Amino acid sequence: MRDLMPEFDADEIGAEMLQFMEELFPICRSITGDGVRETLRRIGERIPLEIHEVPTGTQVFDWTIPKEWNIRDAYIEDPQGRRVLDFRESNLHVVGYSVPVDKRMPLSELREHIHTLPDQPNLIPYRTSYYSETWGFCMQHEKLQELEDGEYVVRIDSSLEQGSLTYGECYLPGETDAEVLISCHCCHPSIANDNLSGIALATRLAEYLGGLSVHHSYRFLFIPGTIGSIAWLALNEDKVQRIQHGLVVACVGDPGQPTYKRSRKGDALIDRAAALVLGHSGQAHRIVDFSPYGYDERQYCSPGFDLAVGSLTRTPYGEYPEYHTSADDLGFVHPESLVDSLRLYLQVLDVLENDAAYINLSPRGEPQLGKRGLYPAVGAQGVGSELMARLWVLNLSDGRHSLLDIAERAGLGFPDVKEAARVLLDSGLLRPASITDASP
Ligand code: ZN
Repeated sequence: MRDLMPEFDADEIGAEMLQFMEELFPICRSITGDGVRETLRRIGERIPLEIHEVPTGTQVFDWTIPKEWNIRDAYIEDPQGRRVLDFRESNLHVVGYSVPVDKRMPLSELREHIHTLPDQPNLIPYRTSYYSETWGFCMQHEKLQELEDGEYVVRIDSSLEQGSLTYGECYLPGETDAEVLISCHCCHPSIANDNLSGIALATRLAEYLGGLSVHHSYRFLFIPGTIGSIAWLALNEDKVQRIQHGLVVACVGDPGQPTYKRSRKGDALIDRAAALVLGHSGQAHRIVDFSPYGYDERQYCSPGFDLAVGSLTRTPYGEYPEYHTSADDLGFVHPESLVDSLRLYLQVLDVLENDAAYINLSPRGEPQLGKRGLYPAVGAQGVGSELMARLWVLNLSDGRHSLLDIAERAGLGFPDVKEAARVLLDSGLLRPASITDASP
């Protein structure tokens, strides 16, 4: 039995995760470039991280690694020479992957390159144009409306050149080669919940698991969305089959309720573990079916791989008004939500680590629990969950039912069933099942 549930100081961990997000927030990230490298460097200060560079032009399945994008500065000056938009105030002001521009143009022409959110006029949208070469700015709609006609100076000091795509990988070997994949995207600029929260959670999780002895090996990927996971899959086809379970981490810091998106399989162990944990979490939550949209689960669950990878988030992508805007900032995430999410992840991993089948060594009639001190006094409220968990584990431990099967059938939380198994093992009433026990 392994115990993944730490005795941690929730306030301290939450504050520390938020602090890491604050450190990463100002960095201008994209799917390639120095912003990703700097982000990975900082993650690497906390966990053992291997940095990979995949050269521009590399073919990865149906995709090609794009040119590397870097940006130094960008602004718009009005006819009076005042900066009405400045990249240094917010990196969201420039459309990601904008080609360099140094021009004068009338407002009417400039407008065609400006993106706003008329329904959220005080917010800056987050826009990118990775796969078609263009340029653009993003600004508050209310600011755009204040601009007067005339000639504007437009400058984007960026470069789009041969280079590479950078991703980070942290591999924590366990007792077996069977792997758990934890994947998060690291390609958004100053956006907090989507997905600095995921980076902070994955980093904390790796830090924590690195100090434990665990059954599975854990592979953490910090990758640019879509192209990063496709590149990893293409370059690591020999390792893919080791992945037994996986979770895509994103949007884990907002105050919304937890949401689990099932893998394409729908009933994989990871899907059942997540459903069990959320069902016994005591909080409102949602479980939604797989769909081929969203984050990198789209790639891990593509039919050529069909990995058992789900996604555990809070409010899903696109379902909160702050999504992909300047309002998804550090004020939108809460340390309590970050810690709650971390706890849920650890509880799910605790199921994966401890799900095993056992054999009842006294299967003819119930063993007499009372003489072993294992039959708690039955109170006025009836039989408690402690006794029920022991009775269920004894009854179903025939080598064909794992602890997760038992928890599901008994309607009990995994920690109760696990604790019952621990007690019964200690008292000599159970032994771990072997492969031969499972055959009929
Ligand atoms: Zn996003």
